[in-house]
Amino acid sequence: MLDKVVIANRGEIALRILRACHSLGIKTVAVHSTVDRNLKHVGMADESVCIGPAPPLESYLNIPAIIAAAEVTDAQAIHPGYGFLSENADFAERVERSGFIFIGPRPETIRLMGDKVSAIAAMRAAGVPCVPGSGKALGQDAAENAEIARRLGYPILIKAAGGGGGRGMRVVHTEAALHNAIHLTRQEARAAFGNDQVYMEKYLERPRHIEIQVLADGQGNAVHLGERDCSMQRRHQKVLEECPAPFITPEQREAIGRVCVKACLDIGYRGAGTFEFLYQDGAFYFIEMNTRIQVEHPVTEMVTGIDIVYHQLRIAAGKPLKLRQEDIEWRGHAIECRINAEDPDSFIPSPGIVRRFHGPGGPGIRLDSHLYDGYRIPPHYDSLIGKLIAHGPDRESAIARMRVALNELVIEGVKTNVPLHQRILADPGFREGGTSIHYLEQRLAERRAERGA
Ligand code: ADP
Repeated sequence: MLDKVVIANRGEIALRILRACHSLGIKTVAVHSTVDRNLKHVGMADESVCIGPAPPLESYLNIPAIIAAAEVTDAQAIHPGYGFLSENADFAERVERSGFIFIGPRPETIRLMGDKVSAIAAMRAAGVPCVPGSGKALGQDAAENAEIARRLGYPILIKAAGGGGGRGMRVVHTEAALHNAIHLTRQEARAAFGNDQVYMEKYLERPRHIEIQVLADGQGNAVHLGERDCSMQRRHQKVLEECPAPFITPEQREAIGRVCVKACLDIGYRGAGTFEFLYQDGAFYFIEMNTRIQVEHPVTEMVTGIDIVYHQLRIAAGKPLKLRQEDIEWRGHAIECRINAEDPDSFIPSPGIVRRFHGPGGPGIRLDSHLYDGYRIPPHYDSLIGKLIAHGPDRESAIARMRVALNELVIEGVKTNVPLHQRILADPGFREGGTSIHYLEQRLAERRAERGA
């Protein structure tokens, strides 16, 4: 097994990785910025190294500093978590060239999947169903672009090949608006992602976001761990996730899961990964693949009983996957609420000192959080301060347990989105299940209108 791992991340996911390492007897090195000395996992790690000041570019995105930290601590491997450098192929390459193990896929795979145009082409070739689209980056020929859009039928979506985090997308309803929309998206993509390639997809009007978790060892073995429903979104960002997805049948899971496993084997995928799909009228359409651990991985862990980070570490150590598809079972239902330090109505971040913190408990409750009494949430990073997960024998009981747990959770000193989660859990549409990716935005707009009136 691995001996010592550098955790190149912060917050709840750094703690999650540390726990998996320690349970396997692997030593840990926490790398952190100057404002993150007091992070919970930094105190728990075997060693820690300050890699730079608060701005991410100077610390968590500082490749030479992270590799130097691995060198001075004589670590073997680097776990990137999610966000930051987790999907940066150049980073993975430099980690490997420096003689360390990158806990994730091969750099070539990250590069292939990091460009959405090449990812879609690879998935098409592997037989994965994709959203009808241009199938290639758009050129400068306005007439040709108009022809592609006409063929797809309006509304269409212009997307940045290098886009991420829900940014770099624009819906177009008419041919009159097309040319300018392509131009604007290109400009934004160049500024935000350093890549001005854009492509076109049919805009699906009421899809659900359903994704498939996979594990592959890069040695010819791959399994899928079923699906998650991440349709509850605001500004294309996930707010609450669940496993399994309401109304998806075992036959559908088996069919789409098999397609993803085959795609993993086709591209020689290694590690944990997620195939993201839009689902509408009974059909799945691939949109992108995430080549890393995801924020919402715990709901799958609760339902399958499989520790995904543990398997990431084993795979990185070169061990063949010991899971077999026929052994994987889905028991009950799990829901995750992303707890953010932000105003529940305006969504403005609310950093500051946590005056009082008390986590909930009881059957089926899991809290992945780095908070503690007196912890100061710095303003420089994502506002995610924890994830509350509730598991129950069925969806209704998972919802009931989550509502109790949210009531029990005490976070004082900063504002959180707990009230938003309480409203979602009480909402009749959510209770029914199977709402589209636009549902939350529509409810929020109605609420704003009511409160304004
Ligand atoms: P990102 O990498 O920024 O997360 P994705 O391609 O995963 O971008 O898309 C993010 C979200 O945007 C999806 O979950 C969905 O809500 C919406 N979306 C993406 N493609 C389409 C589409 N073709 N039609 C409708 N909505 C879409």
